[in-house]
Amino acid sequence: MTVDYALVGGGLQNGLIALGLLHRRPDCRLALIERGPRPGGDHTWCFHAADVDPAAAPWIDPLPRHRWPGYTVHFPDRTRTLNEPYSMIASADFADAVEAACLAAPNARLLTDTEAVAVEPDGVRLADGRHIRARVVIDARGPDRHALPAECGYQKFVGLELRLTAPHGLDRPVLMDARLPQIDGFRFMYLLPFDAHRLLVEDTYFSDGPALDQDAVAARVESFVAEQGWRIAAVERREHGVLPLPWAAPPPPPEDGVLRAGYQGGFYHPVTGYSLPAAARLAAVVADTPIEALPRAFAALRREIGRRQRFGLLLNRAFFAHCPPGRRWQLMSRFYRRPAGTIRRFYAMRMSAWDRFVAVAGPVPRCLVWRRPPAMTAQEAA
Ligand SMILES: Cc1cc2nc3c(=O)[nH]c(=O)nc-3n(C[C@H](O)[C@H](O)[C@H](O)COP(=O)(O)OP(=O)(O)OC[C@H]3O[C@@H](n4cnc5c(N)ncnc54)[C@H](O)[C@@H]3O)c2cc1C
Repeated sequence: MTVDYALVGGGLQNGLIALGLLHRRPDCRLALIERGPRPGGDHTWCFHAADVDPAAAPWIDPLPRHRWPGYTVHFPDRTRTLNEPYSMIASADFADAVEAACLAAPNARLLTDTEAVAVEPDGVRLADGRHIRARVVIDARGPDRHALPAECGYQKFVGLELRLTAPHGLDRPVLMDARLPQIDGFRFMYLLPFDAHRLLVEDTYFSDGPALDQDAVAARVESFVAEQGWRIAAVERREHGVLPLPWAAPPPPPEDGVLRAGYQGGFYHPVTGYSLPAAARLAAVVADTPIEALPRAFAALRREIGRRQRFGLLLNRAFFAHCPPGRRWQLMSRFYRRPAGTIRRFYAMRMSAWDRFVAVAGPVPRCLVWRRPPAMTAQEAA
């Protein structure tokens, strides 16, 4: 088989690229190769409205299952509600959209349950022996293949999708409820209300290490739910994640002619570990760039994203290397005192020099220490 675009790995990044290409160039010859049974895996992807590049909006706007007009954050010293629209895409809906787009396009092939074993600049060899020749190969096989610097913190979480016996009373997400014992770093609950009785409750940690005792954390979610006076009728789904948050620039991907995208290519937000804003941006660039100009466009966007990541790396260094784990919530609470526009552009990876100044302006926070704080004791980490 010969195609224009071979997209290796049918996750968030290449799914968005496929949707963008088939939206802009419905006749293009495209193969999307995914080793799993469906594109997208099993995720809930959230993002702020401003995270989506307007050029990618035509194919991202139809995807969210839930949209909320804003969100709330709670810290021990303040609560704030921001009227910043927030959305959630369920990976099952994402898979439906990618499958439908590939089916409707005359020259697109979606190859699921298909493992790529050799990824080269002019083609892909599959585990079943087939070879796909391609004018351009975009490799987005996910975080597992991304080389990380040793200097790294982690965002880790266990989330339960719950049906309650009575309405929970939330009308918008709570992005952070940090009014909790601060164990294992900065800790907060993340709440997404889906309907009157159903919601996702995620116990989240910004920690020094990646260890995650899923059952223990799930039990803490259930305790939190009970403390709110809610009773669980059913646990409908469970998810977990361990997302690396580096504070040094990751090594650049190899320059061997294969275009590395998604998390593997370094297209993610270093402070949140989320990749939708950068993935949407790259999808727009791929859709709007002639195929022969793609390598240069990729390199230019990677440089730009690298520049935008620098401030996030600095924040991560302050957070993980210069703030004792139990006081990290103070830095986050301080950040949430900033203007809504600065916070919006922070999440969208579009901060101006003024935003960067505003984000850190003021006296040096007293929770910061010059030396790296000692590692947590086993008791603190438990
Ligand atoms: C529980 C959880 C919740 C998250 N929530 C958010 C969120 O709310 N917002 C957000 O922006 N980010 C979120 N993230 C992070 C986000 O999911 C990842 O950053 C994003 O999926 C990375 O996209 P990607 O396309 O690079 O990799 P992936 O989405 O991981 O896709 C890689 C794909 O490649 C396939 N693959 C791997 N090897 C091969 C092979 N040899 N042949 C064929 N296929 C292969 C995999 O099966 C996979 O489908 C979350 C992560 C987790 C774990």
